[in-house]
Amino acid sequence: MNTNSALMKVKKQLHEAGFKLTPQREATLLVLLENEKDHLSAEEVFFFVKRKSPDIGLATVYRTLEILTDLHVVDKVSFNDGVARYDLRKEGAKHFHHHLLCLECGNIEEIEEDLLGEVEEVVESRYHFAVKDHRLTFHGICRQCQNKQEKVL
Ligand SMILES: [Zn+2]
Ligand SMILES: [Zn+2]
Repeated sequence: MNTNSALMKVKKQLHEAGFKLTPQREATLLVLLENEKDHLSAEEVFFFVKRKSPDIGLATVYRTLEILTDLHVVDKVSFNDGVARYDLRKEGAKHFHHHLLCLECGNIEEIEEDLLGEVEEVVESRYHFAVKDHRLTFHGICRQCQNKQEKVL
């Protein structure tokens, strides 16, 4: 999906929830779309938005990120450093994607497949818990770092 149609879709979502897509909110959203592969913190989003809209304040960016989180356009995640980061929910994804966090270089990869269907079934039947979503981060060593280690040995 291209940036423009993604933008239109979120615009509709905001509208249906009674919010307007103000130029500041649009600029914030664009930064998220343009950096889809990264997991930006509010400060990082603010840094990028400010380059396009120099008059925007950090509070506006925070508020926009909160609205987008409430509407499930983005998910708030945090990894080893405990910093809240904002992650676009994938189009049509029922569940939040999983992450692979490299303990060596800090790189974060995403897994699109859900893989947890069976686990959810067990949780629902054994714990009588209606699963709506889940967060999963694998901690380990990424392929690049494994290759580097092999060369050293
Ligand atoms: Zn992610
Ligand atoms: Zn690594």
